[in-house]
Amino acid sequence: MRIVVLAGGIGGARFLRGLKSTVPDADITVIGNTGDDIHLFGLKVCPDLDTVMYTLGGGINEDQGWGRTDESFTVKEELAAYGVGPTWFGLGDRDFATHIVRTQMIGAGYPLSAVTEALCDRWQPGVRLLPMSDDRVETHVAVTDPETGERRVVHFQEYWVKLRASLDAEAVVPVGAEQAKPAPGVLDAIAGADVILFPPSNPVVSIGTILAVPGIREALAASPAPVVGLSPIVGGAPVRGMADKVLAAVGVETTAAAVARHYGSGLLDGWLVDTSDADAVTEVEAAGIPCRAVPLMMTDTDATAAMARAALDLAEAAR
Ligand code: GDP
Ligand code: CA
Repeated sequence: MRIVVLAGGIGGARFLRGLKSTVPDADITVIGNTGDDIHLFGLKVCPDLDTVMYTLGGGINEDQGWGRTDESFTVKEELAAYGVGPTWFGLGDRDFATHIVRTQMIGAGYPLSAVTEALCDRWQPGVRLLPMSDDRVETHVAVTDPETGERRVVHFQEYWVKLRASLDAEAVVPVGAEQAKPAPGVLDAIAGADVILFPPSNPVVSIGTILAVPGIREALAASPAPVVGLSPIVGGAPVRGMADKVLAAVGVETTAAAVARHYGSGLLDGWLVDTSDADAVTEVEAAGIPCRAVPLMMTDTDATAAMARAALDLAEAAR
């Protein structure tokens, strides 16, 4: 079975772990979001690709859900001693090595897709991890500064990590997406898939950014494979993080049904909501999207594997 998964960071990575345990022999291609990428200290950091790679490769800090296990922060402290920031983005010593290797390879002329493959040679995530694009895309968020009343645009990481999404997101723009091309292998994987899954990743700044790369949405719609998604919204709130802020920016209510309608029946052939949102099933189906309610909390690998199984079952029914 050839499965394609569009993934952000934590939600995508944890889901993939469950999927792999449900169908260990499946051929899984992950199309990772690179709109979260940021350049820090001269290094290119790809938080979502690394979260998938570390989670599936056994190197993730499980409690945090991002960054390396058994991490230290000497380099960060030394940089701070020089007065060199930002200090709000947590890069540990082990993690730094990944970004150094990546930046060095990019400097030598390798595209991000080739660099990601090289990094995965070490981590052996058991999936083919592709960046959505080799071209630079950077998600920016427009906010109004509460002190000056002025509108300003910040990098997504500054909005999310530094400001902790405390200000309203007035617009979310994947800068560069319009000119970006899908990375090598992305469109072929979609065209050749038996099943396509949207894990419970952020619908705006993770999956939405991937869909903003011209050609990807069209390929998904054209693919004969059913597309099934799992709601990241449970009981009217994100399970983790601040997805409600970026959903509001695109005019979407923070409900499992509204997210399904946002993707639409042109894209989705199935949608899973949590059992606590069973009321939403009728509304989603009225929008032309087959829907089931199952437990959607990724509390451990078994619970996550059951979610993946339910998604594959719904895909089978949609075929
Ligand atoms: P990020 O890039 O690290 O923010 O990760 P993703 O975009 O892949 O996923 C973030 C989304 O995952 C958030 O909107 C959360 O609501 C959702 N999420 C996290 N844990 C769970 C869970 O256990 N169940 C469900 N249904 N959603 C979850
Ligand atoms: Ca992310």
